[in-house]
Amino acid sequence: MIKYHLKCKCGIKFESWFSSSEEYDRLDKKNMLSCQCGKSNKIYKQLMSPQISSKKEFINHKSKQEAFYKTVNKKLRELRNYVEKNAEYVGDNFISEARSIHYDKKNIRNIYGKATPEQTAELLDEGIDVNTIPWIKKTNS
Ligand SMILES: [Zn+2]
Repeated sequence: MIKYHLKCKCGIKFESWFSSSEEYDRLDKKNMLSCQCGKSNKIYKQLMSPQISSKKEFINHKSKQEAFYKTVNKKLRELRNYVEKNAEYVGDNFISEARSIHYDKKNIRNIYGKATPEQTAELLDEGIDVNTIPWIKKTNS
């Protein structure tokens, strides 16, 4: 169903529902559109007003996106907190520390630190378990 705002030659404005725009065109061609004045079959289609509902849907969609984004951020912060609590920060020494733990079996512990994607790939090739995780800021901003 589609709603058109119509205007008669006499000046009267009214609204009417049609099953489709084709249906409207068909009735218009056959001069089957009529006005309550009964004098004229000259009916003109007005520009349709924007639908309030579509704007509402857009807002809903936007708030859903924001909720999703917030949830992802929250999970990533939880992940960061978990890593910080359960592993030792070794910073730029991550690669050498990871190798030392893997090969020397000394001072075995969970560690986290910095590595480039290439370095990470090398460790994985050597059979050392490493994960790359998004390191999110602790605040919401
Ligand atoms: Zn009229």
